[in-house]
Amino acid sequence: MRILFVASEVAPFAKTGGLGDVAGALPKALKALGHDVRVVMPRYRAVNPARYALKTRLKSVPVTVGSTETDIALLEGTLPGTAIPVYFVEQPDWFDRDGLYQQDGDDFPDNLERFSGLTQAVLHSAPRLRWRPDVVHCHDWQTALLCAHLALTRRTDAYWSRVGSVLTIHNLAYQGVFPRAQFPLTNLPPAAFSVDGMEFYGKVNCLKGGLLYADRLATVSPTYAQEIQSKEFGAGLEGVLALRRHELAGILNGIDLEEWNPATDPLLPARYTADSLEGKARCRSALRQDQGLAEEPALLIGLVQRLVEQKGLDLLVEAAESLMALPIQLVILGTGERTYQERLTALARRYPKRIALNLRFDNGLAHRIEAGADAFLMPSRFEPCGLNQLYSMRYGTVPIVRKVGGLADTVVHLSPSTLSQGTATGIVFEPYTAEALLEAVERAVEAFRNRAAWERLIRQGMRADFSWARSAEAYIQCYAEASKVLRPAPVQRAARGRPARRPRARH
Ligand code: ADP
Repeated sequence: MRILFVASEVAPFAKTGGLGDVAGALPKALKALGHDVRVVMPRYRAVNPARYALKTRLKSVPVTVGSTETDIALLEGTLPGTAIPVYFVEQPDWFDRDGLYQQDGDDFPDNLERFSGLTQAVLHSAPRLRWRPDVVHCHDWQTALLCAHLALTRRTDAYWSRVGSVLTIHNLAYQGVFPRAQFPLTNLPPAAFSVDGMEFYGKVNCLKGGLLYADRLATVSPTYAQEIQSKEFGAGLEGVLALRRHELAGILNGIDLEEWNPATDPLLPARYTADSLEGKARCRSALRQDQGLAEEPALLIGLVQRLVEQKGLDLLVEAAESLMALPIQLVILGTGERTYQERLTALARRYPKRIALNLRFDNGLAHRIEAGADAFLMPSRFEPCGLNQLYSMRYGTVPIVRKVGGLADTVVHLSPSTLSQGTATGIVFEPYTAEALLEAVERAVEAFRNRAAWERLIRQGMRADFSWARSAEAYIQCYAEASKVLRPAPVQRAARGRPARRPRARH
């Protein structure tokens, strides 16, 4: 199959979270299955053309967003270590900025224009590549608009006429909601601004449009696929998702086994395997030293995450007093909301030798925490898939997680029976309360005292299979279905049997 990936972030070029990891790793797994996959993303300031040997593929392609005409260029490189082509959409006004979506915690005010621009760039440049995909795979609200446009454009445009679309929801909490006055920036016909289209409580909702118009939907774990059809987790879109539940697949994310491999990881001070864990002890000492933590026989717990409400930091702050009465140390790495930065800073000041706080984005430190910590905490309120618990297991670091979304699908709670059966991989708690979190950490501290059992737990996690191979097969199935069904266009459906209006010319 020929697959075009379109994503707003792709590791290692640019990443803010799990979406970037997935967009950097899944194409490799698809390629390994013999498929022809290519990737499109913005050329942000962080993507250095010299470093990645990018070449100009298309010098100038006219694109219109709303009433503004502009030219984009397409640069071409490859996903490092592969021959997978990556096309970078270059338009400095949109993408030549330090942040991907925000600056100093505030979203850029022109995000709709920027990502609508990315959609238009794909629609107008792909036909010039002498290559045509069978399916376009979009991700989250930033590229959801493309699904609506494909449904429209393929009625009149020979190039797109047989191309299916798949939209993966990496996080339903981010929907790309904009004031109604900005609707013209979507380039969609006015009829698409309706309850069965892009309209959401009087505003434009990009993700909703994608959920309605993509040929197939996917999300990143089976449990999250169920959860988002409920009021509790649906973020207002549960009705739309329930409507399309038969076309929604829950496909667990895998991890990039080359990037996250403790046996070869060049970012670590020492390397190790499940059969020889001495290197892990060296990583732990080095981490303590680097982070200014006392060398003592405490359980060293890592946290690497965006500092946002989703991640359950309120529980950590609420339980802090009791937690710190236990023999534990914390090393925290994260960026995000000011309120969490301040609360964590206050906490770290109270326990200078026992809590280390790093308020920045640092991939090397993320690797060193995964390797050097004994346990890894994810008390998430909700978690579509979660990658850090997978990295933790691979690095012999025991995840302590809340039973929600992908965390529920990937971590097996430690009990005498799961340990003896060889299936236990971590510690799982369910209620979203500070008490439950505290109990889980107490359980970890107790388990950590039994060295032999702890090492067994570590090894079981290290041997668990979180490769992309199985999930890539599931995506292929999804692509095959998408390219068969080809949903009708928004205006066709909004017009309910009346002859559909022709979309306005775009040039
Ligand atoms: P989410 O997508 O909700 O942010 P995931 O667990 O799916 O959560 O993925 C998070 C990814 O981002 C992981 O690869 C994690 O290591 C990385 N990450 C998050 N915050 C930081 C940070 N401050 N520094 C380095 N890496 C980070």
